[in-house]
Amino acid sequence: MLRLSVETLSASEVHEQRDAPDEPQLSSLHATPFASDHQPAAIMTTDNAQDKTYDANAPALSRADRSKPFFPLSGLAKDGFSNEDEASATCFCGAVQLAFPVKGEGLVDTFICHCYDCYKLTASVMGTAAFVVKGTHLRHVRGEVYRVGTGFPGNFIVRIGTVDDLNLIEGPLKPRIEMFNKDRASYLKGAEGVEQYQGWYYGAYS
Ligand SMILES: [Zn+2]
Repeated sequence: MLRLSVETLSASEVHEQRDAPDEPQLSSLHATPFASDHQPAAIMTTDNAQDKTYDANAPALSRADRSKPFFPLSGLAKDGFSNEDEASATCFCGAVQLAFPVKGEGLVDTFICHCYDCYKLTASVMGTAAFVVKGTHLRHVRGEVYRVGTGFPGNFIVRIGTVDDLNLIEGPLKPRIEMFNKDRASYLKGAEGVEQYQGWYYGAYS
């Protein structure tokens, strides 16, 4: 057991478990020389504001060929996969990898959530985009990390940002509903083509 953290969701009980077989190597993360190289004073002016790093020829999701997987290969693992039946979701350090169904009864639903617990759980106010997978259809390639809740009995909740083939977020993993919009930050708008709900969507808890 590498780590165990238990988080409480007002709508449901949430457990996030990490159980990796080997200690992940995090040295490359810690070695990033960001702090010493960062010069915000030189960057954050209106005079020099421009899209300095944009490369029209670099791989980009907005221009990706949708007929095949698109792997940006962010993170330390380079073994993500995607086929017509299942695809991988991998954590940044690569210690944990799951395989989930991309179609059929195993892929239960897809959503965006703006509840306060999602703020804390993701350390973000941009909303949680995730999908629900039947417990019987989630395969642990290595380690374990997932979210479960009484609002989703028998299912696992996988955050969409862990998916390796990013074309899936434009396809079968595109959010179907957006909920807890009453708590969405005022500068965000509802996702285009996604059903909108002010509160919890999935009905009474069992
Ligand atoms: Zn939420």
